[in-house]
Amino acid sequence: MANQAQITFPFMRVHAPRASSAKALALPERPLTRRSAVRVPEGPDQASLPFARATPRLFVHEGARQLLEKRLASLIGDNVSLSVTDNRRTMISSNRRGSTLEVRLHHMFLDADVFTVRALARYVKDGDRAASVLVGRFIEAHRQRIAPSGTRQVTLRTAGEHHDLGAIFERLNAQYFGGIVDARATWGRRRSGRRSRATIKLGTYCAEQKLIRIHPSLDRKWVPRYFVAYVMYHEMLHHVVPMPVVDGRRQFHSEEYRERERAFADYERAIRWEKRVVHRLLRG
Ligand SMILES: [Zn+2]
Repeated sequence: MANQAQITFPFMRVHAPRASSAKALALPERPLTRRSAVRVPEGPDQASLPFARATPRLFVHEGARQLLEKRLASLIGDNVSLSVTDNRRTMISSNRRGSTLEVRLHHMFLDADVFTVRALARYVKDGDRAASVLVGRFIEAHRQRIAPSGTRQVTLRTAGEHHDLGAIFERLNAQYFGGIVDARATWGRRRSGRRSRATIKLGTYCAEQKLIRIHPSLDRKWVPRYFVAYVMYHEMLHHVVPMPVVDGRRQFHSEEYRERERAFADYERAIRWEKRVVHRLLRG
C-alpha cells in the first residue's frame, strides 16, 4: 500500500532565519522566495479599493493593514509593526526588534474574523498551542488564497458518503501518534465505469505530497469503519516509520513497521475482514 510514499499539512512551526527569538508558522512545502506585500491584479474591480502603491505591481491594502496592526497591538499589549506578505510557505512570523514586535502575516489574515485575530495575537505573543490550532485551521480554510507554487494542487475530499476520513484521521492521530502526523488524507478519485480488477490498492501514501489516498471503493455502508481506520492507520504509519534501504531495496514494511502495525487495536479483525471480503472489493 505504499510505493508512492506521501502528504503536506498546512502549517508547522519553523525557525525563522536570522533570529533565534523569532517564530514562524509555515507551510512546509517550498522555500520562501518572495517577501512582503499583497499582489493585486490591476483591473476595474480593484480601482475603488484603497490600495496604496508600494512599488510597481506590488500593492498593500494599507487601510486593512493598519487596522489589523492596531488590533494586534492592543490584544498583545505591545508595539506591533505589521508587514503583509504573499508568501507561499511562511504564513506567520514574528521577531522582536527593540521595543517593537515585528509581525509578518500572509494577506489572508487581513480580513480574518475576530476569533482568528484573537488566536493570532495569542499565538504571536506566547506561541499558545490551542491558538496555533485555531490559526492553522484558518490557514487551511483559506489555502486557496496562497499563491500557487507551480506544483499540482490536490483537492482534498475527506467527507465520503458513509465514512468521514477527516474524523478517522484525527482520531487515529490522537490515539496512536500523539497528534504528530502532519499528513493529509483524501478519498481517491472514482474511475468511471465499474470493472473487476486483479488487485486493488486500498490506500497509498505519497511522501512528496504528504498525502494519503484511500480507495473510494471503501466508502460503502458494508465496509466497517474499523477497516477504513485500519487502512488509514497503515498509511499514517508510512508517514512516521522510517523506510530503510536494505540491499538496494527500500523496505516499506520493515520489522519496526510490522510491529507497530500490529499495535492497531482492530488489527486482527481488520485482516480477517479483508480476507473475507476482498473479492467483493475487487468487483469495484
Ligand atoms: Zn504499505
